Amino acid sequence: MRTPYRGRFAPSPTGPLHAGSLVAALASWLDARAHQGVWLVRIEDVDGPRCVPGADRLILDQLTACGLVSDEPVQWQSMRGDAYEAALQRLVAQGDAYPCACSRQDIELALLAAGTPRERHQAAIYPGTCRPERGGLRGRPARAWRFRAPLRARVDWADRRLGPQTQDVARAVGDFIIKRADGLWAYQLAVVVDDAAQGITHVVRGEDLADNTARQILLQRALGLTTPAYLHTPLVLGPNGEKLSKQNGAQALALGDPVVALNAAARVLDLPASSGSVAEALAHWTARWGARWATRRSA
Ligand code: GLU
Repeated sequence: MRTPYRGRFAPSPTGPLHAGSLVAALASWLDARAHQGVWLVRIEDVDGPRCVPGADRLILDQLTACGLVSDEPVQWQSMRGDAYEAALQRLVAQGDAYPCACSRQDIELALLAAGTPRERHQAAIYPGTCRPERGGLRGRPARAWRFRAPLRARVDWADRRLGPQTQDVARAVGDFIIKRADGLWAYQLAVVVDDAAQGITHVVRGEDLADNTARQILLQRALGLTTPAYLHTPLVLGPNGEKLSKQNGAQALALGDPVVALNAAARVLDLPASSGSVAEALAHWTARWGARWATRRSA
């Protein structure tokens, strides 16, 4: 028997909804409706310092103005610390996570010493200095907690739109942070714990997040959780050709004119512009994606 479809839109309240974030909101809503599923909104406010006070309420109002309303009470990640702590403790007990004392500079120096300096504009791949088998913290205070990326664990997964994807997490990102040095929970852990706790079967989100999926699948496996199906939507590009964001001038969606905004989002999703009726967009989405119901598990 199929698990009933449960999808979500999970904005970070770092500013109001803009043309780019509405695309992910609309796509996730259409996909849920096309599968007669449940659609949830989750406010991802784990990174408190980046959150803008009141942006969560504004986003919810903007969504409501567009006719996109969560089917169940909205959840805030800032209330979910106990669940993230329990997941961290489980990972530590299993040997899948360990404390790390390294500062950014320590990591740069270790990489330099190993002859593998970080390439410009590339994130550093953690050299494993604090891995328990390499001596652990060696008396230094723990700053952050890292997930141990298994060696030779190439993660293969299928994106419903982008097709087959693969990433060797150990080589591409290394042991990644799940609890940050400033005590905040990392997105990777919070999103995996919450998707599972909310029974999410289908994740529909922007393509800029596709690169995180392999890490999230590793966390799901380590925590004994089911991997949802993934669909990453096209991005809206700003004038500089980069993903539209607050930083490159994305305008907040005007609450007064949802039809124009929804039509623009529908065009990005390659749905024919219409009178702005979501019902029409839904018919097109269902024709394209509705039949492909499957909880794809990673290989
Ligand atoms: N909170 C993330 C963001 O706004 C999205 C997380 C997700 O959909 O997995 O970029």
